[in-house]
Amino acid sequence: MSVIPGRFRTSVVRDRVIGRVVGARPGARLIVVGALHGNEPAGVLAAQRVIGALSGSDPSRIAGSLLAFVGNIGACNAPDPDTRYIETDLNRSFTPTHLLRIATLPDDDLAPEEREMRSIINLLNDEIGQGQTVLVDLHTTSAPSPPFVAMEDTLAARAIVRSLPMPVILGLEEELPGLLFDYVINTHRMVSFIVESGQHDDPASIDGHEAVIWTLLDTLGIVPIDGGPIEHAVDPREVLHRAAGAHERRVYDVRHREAIVDEDYETLPGRTTFERVRRLSTPIGRQGGHTLVAPLSGQLFMPNRQPIKRPGDDAYFIVRELSRGWLNLSARLRRSAWMDTWTPRLLPGVRRRPGHEHELLVAPDIAVVLKRQLLHLLGYRLLRHTPVPHLSRPIRLLCALRALLRALGHMTFGLFRGGERAALPAEREEDWIIARRTLDREPPVR
Ligand SMILES: [Zn+2]
Repeated sequence: MSVIPGRFRTSVVRDRVIGRVVGARPGARLIVVGALHGNEPAGVLAAQRVIGALSGSDPSRIAGSLLAFVGNIGACNAPDPDTRYIETDLNRSFTPTHLLRIATLPDDDLAPEEREMRSIINLLNDEIGQGQTVLVDLHTTSAPSPPFVAMEDTLAARAIVRSLPMPVILGLEEELPGLLFDYVINTHRMVSFIVESGQHDDPASIDGHEAVIWTLLDTLGIVPIDGGPIEHAVDPREVLHRAAGAHERRVYDVRHREAIVDEDYETLPGRTTFERVRRLSTPIGRQGGHTLVAPLSGQLFMPNRQPIKRPGDDAYFIVRELSRGWLNLSARLRRSAWMDTWTPRLLPGVRRRPGHEHELLVAPDIAVVLKRQLLHLLGYRLLRHTPVPHLSRPIRLLCALRALLRALGHMTFGLFRGGERAALPAEREEDWIIARRTLDREPPVR
């Protein structure tokens, strides 16, 4: 490992695979990805530590396997250690457009990150077979932040992530197309999520990622922490518990993403993750000579402090905390067998999307009232949505009433027609598209 004063880097990366550990007994498979962003080496260094520690242990004490690989090799090897990606953000690249290019074009015609994608996709196709597999994608942040998990809210993911004493962020995949974990969930039908363990250059970020890998190996029954082959100086769960502080096991929902428009964007000094912000009164950043104030109240999340910023990158997010009761109610509703049949019949302004078995359309005027948090409660994911304008309460009620009356007309008609709703309008560009989440609909491969 070459060390640059004040920061750490990986040594020159030649192989995608960092290492693998295969137990003598059958069991689950954990796949760890580090440095999907070139300026985030902590995950790679943590994986190296775990694989190093396990390489000398008795395989009969390991059930299942661990594989770790490097995400963006080109960006890791770039001369400037701040290089996050060469041309396109690799963790925004798993989109239909790039996937089609990769499926049809030779290497020479692909962009640098598309070549990385092809190699990652081939590796995953070779590795993922029968049995339970979980993929964790390890990242670090530019601004100081307690470690956290970012996941798609499914019952299967909740069951795994429950073992990590960390805060959890839901809904990033609705704001950011092309995330690796989203591709993995929907292509391979397995649990996958992101862990951010702290700031890029903080050595505690490597400790955090290492603790996450050990805890997940324990959760999946691959390498137990208690009575396993490794003596831990500090219990990895304790490491995570201490780092999470007051945020441990709190769950937040993403409500807003602000994208960078101008390369001169700067987060104001002192603004930190999980700090409370108030609508139209808390200044967050500056861009193009203007101050950006919070467009809604909530908690600030991942304000961008990267030295290199490009238009389209995230400026910041706003999240809100979800209560235990709300999450439990949501789990209960998702388990109900009647959901798929009755949601489009009972919810006003919601109808099936013709030609798409699992998708529903939501009229935009009803979306003003039936906000995204209610759709999330029912286990729906927003596949297409437009920002909801902030309307005063009386105007919102008027919108709701109008939409409700119109929807009731359709609904009465629909009930008599066995839910066909022949009179409903065809799909419009402004309709929201929602769908039950893949892993709630079809449980992961085990
Ligand atoms: Zn990252």
